[in-house]
Amino acid sequence: MTDVIDGNAVAADVRAGLEASIDALADAGVTPGLATVLMSDDPASRTYVSMKQRDCEEVGIDGVHVEIAPDAPAEDLYDAIDDLNADPAIHGVLVQMPVPDHVDTRRVLRSVDPAKDVDGFHPENVGRLVAGHARFKPCTPHGVQKLLESVDVDPEGRDVAIVGRSSIVGKPLANLLIQKRTGGNATVTVCHSRTRDLAAKTRGADVVVAAVGVPQLIDGSMLKEGAVVIDVGVNRVDADTERGYELVGDVDFESAREVASAITPVPGGVGPMTRAMLLYNTVKAASEQEDVPVDL
Ligand code: NDP
Repeated sequence: MTDVIDGNAVAADVRAGLEASIDALADAGVTPGLATVLMSDDPASRTYVSMKQRDCEEVGIDGVHVEIAPDAPAEDLYDAIDDLNADPAIHGVLVQMPVPDHVDTRRVLRSVDPAKDVDGFHPENVGRLVAGHARFKPCTPHGVQKLLESVDVDPEGRDVAIVGRSSIVGKPLANLLIQKRTGGNATVTVCHSRTRDLAAKTRGADVVVAAVGVPQLIDGSMLKEGAVVIDVGVNRVDADTERGYELVGDVDFESAREVASAITPVPGGVGPMTRAMLLYNTVKAASEQEDVPVDL
């Protein structure tokens, strides 16, 4: 029987697990604060940000939203980040990506105070992650780890194929999974668009994580019997639905579930976990900045 991993349920567990920490912070007079910054007209980005704000409200985190017009000068964004860095009520700052072309993305990532960088994308935090002592685990990779935990899959000693080498998913996940201290000890192969014979790499893996952005690239024929499959991809494909499209992953769910022992669906797999781990990082940031120890 293939286990279809319910990301909504695992995310709800993560959120429930934060309650005691949020209460402990409240006892010390602290409410965690998360600022989201949006400089985009993209409807998907807007939806992501509003979902993050709603999540905050539901768990007792103060959500602040800052909106910059997409055609405003880049300085407006840099100044807004400086203000949030200086605001003691804000413990986490998240700039929704992508930002417009006239904005220097790398400067944005560098501008967020590393202590408030709940995405974990500041170069200092990337360095700490690679060195094996992450301050904030980036939300999507951390969510993938929690999903594996939820089905009792310990990565130690296993062969893991990660398809995709982006800085927000593939690379940080590879780092987390190979290291001893971050719940890893796996043997990781990172695949990308220049990988030769992708199917051979995925077929050799006990765990396959797809973070590609190509609809249904990985099908059942590319998997080992009993593999655990985590599908990070979120792709819109035309469909005869009210919205005119549907969301599919990077994995062909139907053929993959015939072979896999456990698999995440899209939607309802990794997506809710990314949001839950953002709440986790915000609580961690508040605890560290306010020097109130919590049990995370
Ligand atoms: P990027 O576009 O930044 O990276 C995609 C990676 O896939 C690249 O490394 C690219 O290789 C590789 N790739 C592309 N085509 C192929 C191919 N045919 N074979 C093998 N590798 C290939 O994407 P992201 O990491 O940002 O996102 C990946 C997917 O995950 C997207 O669908 C995105 O929407 C989704 N996502 C979902 C999240 C969630 O919470 N559910 C969070 C973040 C992302 P190369 O480097 O050589 O170009």
